[in-house]
Formats: sequence, structure tokens, C-alpha cells
Amino acid sequence: MNQIQRLFDIDPWKIATKTLDKQNRRLQESLTSTGNGYMGMRGNFEEHYSGDHHLGTYLAGVWYPDKTRVGWWKNGYPDYFGKVINAVNFFSLTIKVNDTTIDLATIPYEDFYLELDMQTGILTRHFTVKVADATIRFNFERFLSIVKKELAVLKVTAEVITGSATITIDSALDSNVRNEDSNYDELFWEEKASGKENDATYLTVQTVPNNFGIERFSVTALMKHDQKSLATTPAPLAISDAFYYEAKAGETISFEKRIVVLTSRDIPEENQVTKAVELMTAYDQSFATLKAEQVEAWKKRWELADVAINGDPAAQQGIRFNLFQLFSTYYGDDERLNIGPKGFTGEKYGGATYWDTEAYAVPLYLALAKPDVTKNLLKYRHNQLPEAHINAQKQGLAGALYPMVTFTGIECHNEWEITFEEIHRNGSIAYAIYNYTNYTGDETYLQKEGLEVLTAISRFWADRVHYSKRQQKYMIHGVTGPNEYENNINNNWYTNILAAWCLKYTLTSYHRLKDHTTVTISKTEQDKWEDIIDNMYLPADEELGIFVQHDTFLDKDLMPVTDLDSAELPLNQHWSWDKILRSCFIKQADVLQGIYYFSDQFTLEEKRKNFNFYEPMTVHESSLSASIHAILAAELGMEEKALEMYERTARLDLDNYNNDTEDGLHITSMTGSWLAIVQGFAQMKTDHETLRFAPFLPSKWESYAFHINYRGRLLAVTVTKEAVTLKLVLGEALAVSLYDESYTLVDEITAAMNN
Ligand code: BGC
Repeated sequence: MNQIQRLFDIDPWKIATKTLDKQNRRLQESLTSTGNGYMGMRGNFEEHYSGDHHLGTYLAGVWYPDKTRVGWWKNGYPDYFGKVINAVNFFSLTIKVNDTTIDLATIPYEDFYLELDMQTGILTRHFTVKVADATIRFNFERFLSIVKKELAVLKVTAEVITGSATITIDSALDSNVRNEDSNYDELFWEEKASGKENDATYLTVQTVPNNFGIERFSVTALMKHDQKSLATTPAPLAISDAFYYEAKAGETISFEKRIVVLTSRDIPEENQVTKAVELMTAYDQSFATLKAEQVEAWKKRWELADVAINGDPAAQQGIRFNLFQLFSTYYGDDERLNIGPKGFTGEKYGGATYWDTEAYAVPLYLALAKPDVTKNLLKYRHNQLPEAHINAQKQGLAGALYPMVTFTGIECHNEWEITFEEIHRNGSIAYAIYNYTNYTGDETYLQKEGLEVLTAISRFWADRVHYSKRQQKYMIHGVTGPNEYENNINNNWYTNILAAWCLKYTLTSYHRLKDHTTVTISKTEQDKWEDIIDNMYLPADEELGIFVQHDTFLDKDLMPVTDLDSAELPLNQHWSWDKILRSCFIKQADVLQGIYYFSDQFTLEEKRKNFNFYEPMTVHESSLSASIHAILAAELGMEEKALEMYERTARLDLDNYNNDTEDGLHITSMTGSWLAIVQGFAQMKTDHETLRFAPFLPSKWESYAFHINYRGRLLAVTVTKEAVTLKLVLGEALAVSLYDESYTLVDEITAAMNN
């Protein structure tokens, strides 16, 4: 088991600490990130901080194609690596007291407190400094409005406790920001204009030209303060307003900064300043009013989404942290956007869209948001179907290959084993269409866009398989499965079963909806697909009673992770890549991912044998791993394992399990804790017409409770030590199954716990 690192106190709603951990400031910044779906940032201090940290502000959909850098170019490589780019630092302040710069890395301070309130999305901080004879307590409070998405708000107070102080504040918009991962350490921004308009100060910047024909983004940030500045000073890629105060013991100075941010995704560059001024005027309400509206909006989100756990405060904090950060990244407001693995909390991974969305996020959004939100995620892929065709053509293949990493639909990841080989992602795009249709009962998407996407994906699979005359089976060679700790393997069980399922689901849907769709699948194609479905090679070992991860997996030197010295974990930070690839250790659910997807096709015995075989060799070094294991362990009644996996997924970042959270949070895997509770502990199953539950309660918990949307209803599920209660909060009566008993849920049903 990896070491855990817990920087913040356990609290049901707060991420708070009294320690400024200078050694782990990056980790603190990641964990106090805030976002509103439109923009977001790491928990950087507003004032200058010279210690090691990672300054990062990100704007949804604003990115840059950085040239792919590889030693030996191979045909088919993506030309660029798409990056989420660091954008204008708009909360920036330089504060001086009696000519000393307030920089917590260098000056002494006391009474430090940092708090992110997950109930409201408000980040606060205070500390006290002594400069010459003055003792001053600074307070900071800021948020990114989830009601007025372009608006960011900051309030600072400085209370002089002893002595007298001269305080200056330089409040800036600063685009001198770099990506930590830029290939050539270049700036991604150039300045277009800056100045003053209607008592506010603006800066307009544009992404530097690129050679790939990708649009350049323009961004305008406009700031306004609650008082007049003494001077406004432009600087390259920045502009600042200066403020001056004199205060003595007992006096408090107060300073407010509002920022409106616009991008060329919504407003053309030439109109941005005017529009920003207009919005600044429209949003001109008191700090208290804006804050109250923020608090109310988060309250509404929580009313539907909260999962209340009694008896385990760490577990409670974990799930709330995950839901908070997930909704700060994406709340379904903009169908052009998707859910990046790091959201607005870091740059690692580049790209905004991975298979993570379809595999891990869709089930949660289906239950916790209106169906339109998930539909938007599906439409996003349909809109990118032409680009998915291009990706397949580049590999010399028919049909559509959705990218592993993308902004536009074109693959923009630059590792061959991922770009060329990790083709299982195509299956998850199809699986999400099934999931949506099956969960909502709404076939309209499937009928139109869905069948187009499915058919194109199936054409890809039908071309990508080959027929082995020797084995008289269809095979898929040269792939990387979800387990990225092996490359170029043959017949990954998960990829093969998923490909066959895609073909089958496409054909079944096509036959059912033939009269309502414009898609045509010729008889020859249908026959070929049927043949592949019937004769797909699925490696299995009868003696062990397991499905085999790929052709030669069982010939490896098989051993459990417990045989390793724990100092070697995580492997990806201690072993050479070559050693990892040759080992039997599995990064994340692979065979088990398939068993999770097609749960109703396997017996409990099959599930148990595969779980017991693969889990002990799994290092869970992808954040996506633990949740799938938690769900299966729960189904298999392995309470301890299920809870261990829940904790790992729910507190992955809060406890820095994989020792990499300083680079940003694992946003897409944050759905995992919810999946573990709802699909795992509560055993909610939606794969047949009837909604089913078979909950268990981990013995150290007192109870848990959550809500779900399901086919136009709102249901409340409560699980205590004694009983399970299903309550129909909204909507018409519904047929449900609880511990395999059928009921019609009209108002409320309660069954004794079956632990
Ligand atoms: C995982 C992938 C995942 C990516 C982004 C990788 O570490 O192996 O499955 O798509 O992270 O979350």
C-alpha cells in the first residue's frame, strides 16, 4: 500500500488547514482549486509568493496545439499535442506594508488559516504579519460565480492590530504565465490591447500563431475595484492598478476586485471590451448579494447531488470533495465542452476529452443531472464524427476512430502506444450511447446521431480485426488495453469483447430502428459483422476459470503486489518503463473493466475468480482503477476490499495516494467514489428494464443516503444498519427491485437490511 499524505483536516464540508506547508505548496494549491465550468484555477495565493508553487488559471475550451516532440517521427503521429493552457492570472496582487512585500515564503507570519468551503465554493484565508511596528491581519475571500459564469470576485481586508502601516496594493491582470509542460518553454500568449474603459481596466491577449491551422483564442479580462486607483500601469502582457492606504491600530482597510473574463469562443475579440464593460455593469451588485447568490446556487446543486455518510467523516469528506470538484469542472452548461482529466486544476495530460468521460462520468451525470447534460456529452462526440473518420483514415482504416485525447475530435496525444493502440476507447463511446438510452429510456439520440456514431465505430472494428486461419477466429493484434503497463499486446480480452459487443449493439439497434433512421448497413456488411460477433477470439483459461488479459499474459512472472517492497510503489515513479512493461503488474481494471461493463453476462463465480486473480496484481496507479474494483468487490460481498477501494477512490487526492496530486486533481476519476457507493455499496443496476438495488452498509458506517434521477423520477435512497428505504420524491410510480423482490414504488418502500 502506498503512503498517504493528508494535508487538510477531516471535516464534512471544508478543506481547511492552519498550516502553510511550503514543502507541499503545490499539493495544497491543487486541493484548494476552484472552478465554475467556464474558468477555474489552482488555489494560488493572490499576493506574491516566491516559494515553490504552480501558478495556474485555465479557461474552458481555450487551448494550444504544441508541436509534438519525438525523437523519431513515425507516419500517423499526431502533429501536435493539444494543451490546456495557463491563462491570465487575474486575482494577482502585490501587497506591501511599510515597503516590505508580503510574501509568505520569506516573511514571518502567524495565525495562518486556509479554507475551501465545499458547500459554497468560497475560498478564504487569513494570516497575521508583523512588519516594523505594525501587526496586521489579512483576510482574503474569493469565488468564481456559478451564477454569472464570467465573473470572479475577491475581497481583501487588512486589520491593523498594533502600530501604524502604509499599505500599497498593485492589482494586476497578468498574462505572463507559462505552461509547466510546454515543449520549448515558450509563452502561449501575445498582447493585443490594454487600457481603461468606464473606470475599469482591461487586458486583451491572443494565443500565439500555430502551424496547424488551429484557431487562435483571444481573451479579455476586465477588472474593476470598489475604489479609484491612483494610477494604472501597463506592462508587457499585463496591466495593473495601484492603491495606497495609511492605517493605524484599530483600523481596517477593505478592498474588492471584480473580474469579468471573455473569450473568443463566445465573443469576437473586437467586441470583448464593450461586452465585458456591459457585463461588469450588469453584475454590479454588492459582495454580500453576489455571495448569497453563490451560496444559494451551490445549495441547489447539493440538494440533488449530496451523498450523506454517517459514521465515517473521512469517507464523507472524500465524496463531497469529489462531487464539488467535478461540478466545478463541468455542470453540463455548454455542449462544446467536455471533462478534462485535470479540469481547471493543472496542465498534465493535455487535452480536454478522454474516454474517461464516457466510461466514468456518464453514469454519474445520468443520475445527478437532467438527461440533456449527458445528451450534450454524447452530441459532443457526434459533432466530432468527421474528425473521428480522419483519425481512422490516418491509420489506414475504415470507419471512425475516436481519439484518446482531444479538443476537436482529432487525436492530439503524442505517444504511439496510446494514439495507435489504445483503441478500446472507441468501444466506450458506443457504450455511453447504450448507457444513455438504457438509463433514460429515450431512444431519440440513438435513432439519429447515435446510430451514425455506432455504425462508424463498428466499421472501424470490422476493418481492424483480422481473421486467423489457424485458429479460425477473428483477432485484434497490436493494442494497448486499459492497462497501460503493457503495450502492443495481442487479443486484449477487454478490447475484443468490447469490439464484438459494439458490432452486436449496432446491428440490434439498426434492426429495431431501421424504419426510423437514415443509416444504411448493407447485407454484406451485416453478414460480415455477424461472422465477427460469432467468431471473435476471447482468450480464457478454463483451469483457472478466468478470462485472460491477452495472449501471453499467463506466461509472465505472475506475483501479487504484496510481494513487492512498498518502497517501490508507485511503480511508475520507481521502476524503468521497460521493467514495468515486462512485469505482470496491472495499472488499472482491464479484464475487470469488461466484467463491470457487461456485468449481467457473467456469473458471480466468474466475477469472483477473475477478481481474485487480477486484483492482487493490480497497482491501481491510474486514478480510474479503484472505483471499478470497489463496485465488483461490493457485489462479491468483499466488504473490506470494497471499502479500501472506496477510500482510495474517494480520498485519492485528499490523501495523495498516487503521489502525483501536486500536478492537479484527478477530475475524471472523481466520479469513482459516487460509482462505488451507488453502483457498488447500493448495488444499483440499470442494465435491465427494472431498476434494481441490493445495498450493503460497510460495518464502520452508520448510514448513507443519496438521490438519483431515473426516467423522469427523483428517488431518495437511504441505507441504515437496520433498513433500506427507497422513496419516490418526484414523478410517477416505478417498478423497482430490492434484494430481488419486485415492488411498485409509489411513495416509499422499506426493506430490512440484508447485510
Ligand atoms: C489512464 C487512462 C486515462 C488517463 C486520463 C491514464 O493514467 O491510464 O486510462 O484515460 O489517465 O485520466
